[in-house]
Amino acid sequence: MIRLAIVVPCYNEEKALPVTVRRLGQLLADLAGAGKIAATSGVWLIDDGSADGTWTLIRETAGKDPRFHGVKLSRNRGHQNALLAGLDAAEGDAIVTIDADLQDDTSVIEKMVDLNAAGIDIVYGVRRSRTADSAFKRATAESYYRILGFMGVQIVFNHADYRLMSRRAIAALERFTEVNLFLRGIVPQLGFATATVAYDRHERTAGESKYPVRRMISLAIDGITSFSVVPLRMIAAVGIMVCLFSVAAISWVLYGKIFRGDVLPGWASSVIPIYLLGGVQLFSIGVIGEYVGKIYLETKRRPRFFIEERADGAEDQAGLDASRQNSL
Ligand code: UDP
Ligand code: MG
Repeated sequence: MIRLAIVVPCYNEEKALPVTVRRLGQLLADLAGAGKIAATSGVWLIDDGSADGTWTLIRETAGKDPRFHGVKLSRNRGHQNALLAGLDAAEGDAIVTIDADLQDDTSVIEKMVDLNAAGIDIVYGVRRSRTADSAFKRATAESYYRILGFMGVQIVFNHADYRLMSRRAIAALERFTEVNLFLRGIVPQLGFATATVAYDRHERTAGESKYPVRRMISLAIDGITSFSVVPLRMIAAVGIMVCLFSVAAISWVLYGKIFRGDVLPGWASSVIPIYLLGGVQLFSIGVIGEYVGKIYLETKRRPRFFIEERADGAEDQAGLDASRQNSL
């Protein structure tokens, strides 16, 4: 029987949290009752620098129910970093990460646990249908997964960050020290025995999406530039094509001058290349800059998060410290 930990990143989720806490508490009780997980299993709620009452709620919950634990990051560090903080803090033989809004069906956690018991290290939750998402979100997300695949980034189609990982898979993940985190891209690199479970994505239980278009774009760019050198190769390919085109154009002009003597001192032939090459160069510099920026950030080795406060049941604390020592 495994000790299960559920990690929930929470950013301004005071509306959704009460339902989430109730449902996850019930789920733990059910699974423990069925003899599938240990009674010491728990939920780790990670407050990603919320500006609303999220932390107060988490602290209250942790004070009332020893199965719930809170970790407060010192400021908003984004979904991926909050998840990592959770994986780092949570105690257990396997960890399930799930969003606070419960858009991902919690009933498949039981299947994840069963698969883990059967020796699977990583179980991916995969969205069967996304009818609950807006048409825009669905179209952008699905075409993005395709583009990633085309760029040679290994990802699991329609899988976000709803997954179960065994302790040893997490230990492997922790050895990736990069600062630009894109868990969906890193986890498939770990290897180990994997499986997928399909589920239907629901509506948010409460509150609004914390992923505005700006953040989606930034996550999308991170996903590509953290894993793929295809954009760099595309620049090279465009460069070669432009060079070949220029050589052809030069030959054509020379041919005209030598054999026909009808050189056209055209405006187009001098101005168009300026625009064309200027555009190509600017675009190329932009893409290279993206990678240089990554190198710049990576070389600083900045810490990814700081924990400001923790909330655990008082009696639980001793047990926690003991098991923490074991896991290190
Ligand atoms: N989240 C977070 N930090 C952020 C943004 C979001 O921890 O800066 C959490 C949020 O509380 C939620 C999860 O990440 O638990 C996914 O966010 P959301 O549901 O808003 O994204 P969507 O489902 O709309 O893509
Ligand atoms: Mg959501």
